[in-house]
Amino acid sequence: MKTGLVFRKVKAGILGATGTVGQRFIQLLDGHLHFELTELCASEKSSGKLYEEALSGRWKISSHIPEIAKKLTVKACKPDLDCKILFSGLDSSVAGEIETDFANKGYVVISNSKNHRWDKHVPLLSAEVNPDHLELVKHQESYKKSGGFIVTNSNCTIMGVTIVLKALTDKFGVELVHLVSMQAISGAGYPGVPSMDILGNVVPHIGGEEEKAETEPLKILGTYKGDEIINAPIKISAHCNRVPVIDGHMCCISVKLKKKASVEEITEVLQEFRGEPQLLKLPMAPDKAIIVRTEADRPQPRVDLMEGKGMTTVVGRIRPCSLLDVKMVVLSHNTLRGAAGAALLNAELMYRKGYLSQ
Ligand code: NAP
Repeated sequence: MKTGLVFRKVKAGILGATGTVGQRFIQLLDGHLHFELTELCASEKSSGKLYEEALSGRWKISSHIPEIAKKLTVKACKPDLDCKILFSGLDSSVAGEIETDFANKGYVVISNSKNHRWDKHVPLLSAEVNPDHLELVKHQESYKKSGGFIVTNSNCTIMGVTIVLKALTDKFGVELVHLVSMQAISGAGYPGVPSMDILGNVVPHIGGEEEKAETEPLKILGTYKGDEIINAPIKISAHCNRVPVIDGHMCCISVKLKKKASVEEITEVLQEFRGEPQLLKLPMAPDKAIIVRTEADRPQPRVDLMEGKGMTTVVGRIRPCSLLDVKMVVLSHNTLRGAAGAALLNAELMYRKGYLSQ
C-alpha cells in the first residue's frame, strides 16, 4: 500500500507458529507495513529448531515459507522475547496461562483461542463491528501494571455472520437468528479430522462450537458501558457441521428483524456496510467488508473464498423466510477472516489508535 506516510514498525512474534493459524500469521506478516516478524514460538518439541525443521513438512498453505521465517529459530513460549506484540495461534489447552503470562510481563497478546474471550475486561474484537470495545483493555490488571494486555478474536464460524448481523442491527435491529454451519476441515487445525471420518461424509458435531456460535456474537454486538460489555439482546440457535471442504466456513442463517425490510433493502444495507478498517484504509481491510452475490448458486467456497484476499464476507441467496423474516447464505475464510487475518486487522487498528506506541 502506498500511503506517502512513513510508519515505525513494531516488533512482532507468533505463539503457536507451527500450527494452521500460526502459518497464516507468518504469511500475512511477511513484508507488513506496521509489523516486523522477530520471534517464533511453539511447544518444547519444536523449540531450538530452525522453523522449517520444526515444521517437518507441515507447511500447508500454498505459498512458500517466507525467508524471514526460515531464518528464525523456534523458541519456547516464555516471556523473554524481543518483540512488543504477540499473535497467538496456540492450542486452547495451553493458550490461557501462556497468554496471561505474556500480558503480565508487558506484551500485547492477540489471541485466537477461546480461553480469554469471556474475561470481563478482554475485548472480543471484530474491527468492523466493535472497535470501541478496545478501550476495555485499559481496565485489565496487566495494562495498569505493565502496559501489557490481551485482545481476542471470535470463533471463526461466526466471524462473517457477526459482520452481517452488525449491518442488519444498525439499520433494522435483530431479534432472533437460526444458524446452520458447514465448516471446513482446516478449522480443526492440523492434522485435524481423520480422512476416514470426513471424506464423502458430514459430521454433525464439533465439540463446543454451537455454544460459541450462540454466545460470542452477543458480546461482540454488545454495548460498552463503564468497564464491561452488556451483551446484545439477541437469541441465536446454532447447528454446527464439519464438511469435506479444505478452507471456508459457510453458514445458512435465518433472521428475525425488529423492523421489517425487503430483500432489496437488506441487500443494499449489506453491500454498503463499511467499518472503521475501511475508513482508515488499514492494510488488511478489504475495500468491501461484505459482497452480495445475486446468482442462485453462490456463494461457494471454491469460487468465492478469496474475495478481498480472503477478508471479505460473501453473502448470497437473500430471500424471505417463512419462519423468521429473511434467510441467506454467509461465507467467510476461516483461517484468514476467521483467524489470522482478523487478528492482524485488529492489531492494525490498535496500531493506528496508538495502543502499540509505548
Ligand atoms: P494447530 O494447527 O493444532 O496448532 C497449534 C499450535 O499450538 C502449534 O504451533 C503447536 O506447536 C502449539 N502448541 C501445542 N501445544 C503447545 C504447548 N504445550 N506449548 C506451546 N505451544 C503448543 O491449531 P490451529 O488450528 O492453528 O488453532 C490454533 C488456535 O486458534 C486454537 O485455539 C483454535 O481453536 C483457534 N482457531 C483456529 C482456527 C482455524 O481455522 N484453524 C480458526 C479460528 C481460531 P507444536 O507444533 O510445537 O506442537
